[in-house]
Amino acid sequence: MTDTQTNGSKTRPVPADFADNGFFGRDVLSVKQFDRKKLDHICQVADEMRSMVERFGSADLLQGKVLANLFYEPSTRTSSSFAAAMMRLGGKVISINEVRYSSVSKGESLPDTVRTLESYADVVVLRHPEVGAAAKAAHYARKPLINAGDGVGEHPTQALLDFYTIRRELGQVDGLNVAMVGDLKYGRTVHSLTRLLLNYDTSFTFVSPDILRMPAEIIEEVKAAGHSFRETDDVHSVIGEVDVLYVTRVQKERFEDLADYEAVKGCYVITPELMQKAKQKMIIMHPLPRVGEISYAVDDDPRAAYFRQVENGMYIRMALLAAVLGKA
Ligand code: ASP
Repeated sequence: MTDTQTNGSKTRPVPADFADNGFFGRDVLSVKQFDRKKLDHICQVADEMRSMVERFGSADLLQGKVLANLFYEPSTRTSSSFAAAMMRLGGKVISINEVRYSSVSKGESLPDTVRTLESYADVVVLRHPEVGAAAKAAHYARKPLINAGDGVGEHPTQALLDFYTIRRELGQVDGLNVAMVGDLKYGRTVHSLTRLLLNYDTSFTFVSPDILRMPAEIIEEVKAAGHSFRETDDVHSVIGEVDVLYVTRVQKERFEDLADYEAVKGCYVITPELMQKAKQKMIIMHPLPRVGEISYAVDDDPRAAYFRQVENGMYIRMALLAAVLGKA
């Protein structure tokens, strides 16, 4: 028996015996939607997904469900891990990656494209170059919409997998000193991760060239939440103190003036020599793709967590899909 009730921003049938997990039928637009309780829940479900995949490879939890993957910007990991997540849960995927070959190239608006895809699917994953595009699209969508990156704004599912990785690798999140290195201005992953970590007792070290500093709005949020932080352009002087070194790519495609990009590209390269100064118990992370910020020689260092981080992305996205579709 089902009943219809207002569930977050959307109205949909809710099973009578359903205990609201805080995700069912809701959009995932920003990390600001997550508190410690929700983070615990999603990480526990991700752990269950990991053991399920290790033992059986796949399950039929989302059998009969369809995911629409709508990507207006390039993606390797986010789009394929959402697709893999859906398939491992027994669901199916429609992918629009090449907007050139879709009606978007004929001038179709984002709301119309999303409304079309949700007529075929149960959940929509959207990546778009404009800040706020996911929120705008969600306003028109009846089905849950997940933000897979809105320009330089946020990348909430990346932050969830980053958080899950930190917790898994280091055992806890409270008390850690997290350094973010590189393009803190245009890097949406560091915007989301910083905001998410405000739920915990973390301190921050922001390392960037002057023109790529963390946006003032996020610095204000860090201050308002009472977290200690420092800003510097020198990774050498801080690497020995940090528990997490989160390295990012300089986001060439976001620069208005390519001369500015040329001036700062290659500003930081993490090498085995530099890693000698780091703690023994710490991790290096990167949302990938890397374009030279971490030398390949670092990959064999047990502290290099970036490929484990990639794998964690699939389990987190399995957990999220199951949660918004009312199965976790
Ligand atoms: N893959 C990440 C993103 O989509 C990081 C990057 O592109 O540098 O934001």
